[in-house]
Amino acid sequence: MKRYDYLIVGCGLFGAVVAYELSRNGKVCIAIDKRNHVGGNVYTECVNDIIVHKYGAHIFHTNNEHVWDYVNSFAEFNRYTNSPLANYKGKLYNLPFNMNTFYQMWGVTTPKEARMKIESQKTEATMNTPQNLEEQAISLVGKDIYKTLIKGYTEKQWGKKAVELPAFIIRRLPVRFTFDNNYFDDRYQGIPIGGYTPIIEKMLQKSDIVLDTDYFSDKKFWNSLADTVIYTGEIDRYFDYCYGVLGYRSLHFKTSILKNQSNFQGNAVVNYTDADTPYTRIIEHKHFEFGQQADTVITKEYPIAFQTGIDPYYPINDDKNNMLYKRYLQLAQQQENVYFGGRLAEYKYYNMDQVIECALKITQNYLSFN
Ligand code: FAD
Ligand code: UDP
Repeated sequence: MKRYDYLIVGCGLFGAVVAYELSRNGKVCIAIDKRNHVGGNVYTECVNDIIVHKYGAHIFHTNNEHVWDYVNSFAEFNRYTNSPLANYKGKLYNLPFNMNTFYQMWGVTTPKEARMKIESQKTEATMNTPQNLEEQAISLVGKDIYKTLIKGYTEKQWGKKAVELPAFIIRRLPVRFTFDNNYFDDRYQGIPIGGYTPIIEKMLQKSDIVLDTDYFSDKKFWNSLADTVIYTGEIDRYFDYCYGVLGYRSLHFKTSILKNQSNFQGNAVVNYTDADTPYTRIIEHKHFEFGQQADTVITKEYPIAFQTGIDPYYPINDDKNNMLYKRYLQLAQQQENVYFGGRLAEYKYYNMDQVIECALKITQNYLSFN
């Protein structure tokens, strides 16, 4: 059997960047994935001539010029700017929270009026340092927006009460006192024309790839092929859940092709922020690339409970899970010739640009040591 310098477990973005960097530095790599395709959650496929983001909307955004130049060396990006709408019981609001939202919610037309409205809705608990997502949200945007656009969505998304969730989750979203519906504050943003899969394929071009293969089905065999392992799966699974199972939230995606309907919702992303609609958002994929096709493809995203054996999409980074992760991290640091990286192995709510940044940094370290 052929020998490799590196075995990479997981052909997602982290694994692919590492494989690319190692192989262009003369290392011989094999990359395996339990799914039947490369790309992990950034995987896109062509359905009825439309690029479909199979695992939910993926918009590339970053402030890191180096990372932006790096991804642009693999694909051309378009000028897409994410501006989702929120549908609350049939009424539409702009996101993220900005002057358009404040006008739609309260009829206020100036930043001063908007700030006064928010101030008047802060409770005593939210005046001090917010202790949870609910307090943080009310302190940022007031009670009305919290109840209409945040509480229902958040509790569906995470399967927990907003008071049980960490405050940082809602700070992902900008709050602006300008009429600006751009969901991100980052300097660079776009969608790779033709999707993410071609980028990943380019990154993995020089590596041997084995799909439909779970590393744990024969860990000993896979380890025997290479000197060093890069592991990008769930960290708790690697250690056979010896300290317990980390909390994750999972998703179910329901995709439909709508024949002879060229424009279903007029926007790539519409969030459903009430508690009763079982899905959190509907993606209409063609709008990521300004498509003019006769048909359209939509995906409804349903949050579901995680159990071992199904895909974990979101780490739940509350104090309890973070403590548990730290114990696994200590074990990970004791492993010889095994390195852990990416959203699942580092148990972090990473965006794509952060994954690339970490993968580049870590690869430089491997290369200087090996
Ligand atoms: P993954 O993509 O999860 O890849 C890990 C791979 O390892 C998977 O392919 C898995 O099958 C494989 N694997 C795991 N265990 C094993 C095993 N035992 N054996 C073999 N293979 C294994 N980021 C943004 O920047 N912008 C966005 O708009 C955005 N939207 C998102 C929307 C959703 C719904 C989700 C869930 C994430 C979103 N992200 C977004 C985050 C983005 O998906 C991640 O940052 C990125 O995909 C993480 O890459 P990764 O390689 O670490 O993990
Ligand atoms: N959120 C919300 N209402 C929305 C959109 C987001 O309450 O319409 C909250 C929710 O708690 C979500 C968090 O903001 O988990 C972060 O949103 P983001 O869009 O960054 O989530 P992701 O795209 O990672 O699922």
